Amino acid sequence: MRLARFRFAERIATGVVEDDLVRPLQGTYFEDPVPTGDELPLPDVRLLAPVIPSKVVCVGRNYADHAAELGNEVPAEPLLFLKPSTAVIGPDDPIPLPAASGRVDHEAELAVVIGRLCKGVSEEEAPAYVLGYTCGNDVTARDLQERDGQWSRAKGFDGFCPLGPWIETELDPAGVRVEARVNGELRQSASTELLTFTPAFLVSYVSQVMTLLPGDVLLTGTPAGVGPLADGDHVEVEIEGLGVLRNRAVAA
Ligand code: ZN
Repeated sequence: MRLARFRFAERIATGVVEDDLVRPLQGTYFEDPVPTGDELPLPDVRLLAPVIPSKVVCVGRNYADHAAELGNEVPAEPLLFLKPSTAVIGPDDPIPLPAASGRVDHEAELAVVIGRLCKGVSEEEAPAYVLGYTCGNDVTARDLQERDGQWSRAKGFDGFCPLGPWIETELDPAGVRVEARVNGELRQSASTELLTFTPAFLVSYVSQVMTLLPGDVLLTGTPAGVGPLADGDHVEVEIEGLGVLRNRAVAA
């Protein structure tokens, strides 16, 4: 099932996407949503970020090839950092390129969406707490990341966390391809088989540290091929079996 948030006729609602239709739901994804019985043509709605998380938890250097391209070792334990909820934007929203940075990179990532309150769960229990998966772009001001030593500013600008286009609830995250294209040119392409730490492991690991709430998002790290975005660039993140998240970089 594909769960989406969308705007239609000045209202924001949730719905199930089936082919070229959206079937609106009453309530949220998290509390027994009920179909309203309506149908809307998908092209007539504006898709929004599929969730508004309380926090976005990210993992650095989770693909060995990306760690190597930036001259880093793969960590023995997941390297966690946070993006603020205010960084989240949806499909087709502009990614602002802040004047403070001279190099803003795309990072295509598989995003895990949490479905229910999750604290101290085991790796075996973790999948039951996952609502589904969506495409994420961990936009990063690479120069500020190096300059600051920690990553709050480099990863935290408004608009630095595109998510979408919807949540796929039936995706098996093992062995799916994660890709980024800029202006149609392939920049990143890797299978999640190359993840050092799997989504289930990460949900468990993070839940030992902080309580995950419904709608929270976990970005699972990016493969090799990260690179800079210029004003006007079209960036696409595609995940096999899920869909394509499209955004355009715009000088702020
Ligand atoms: Zn990342």
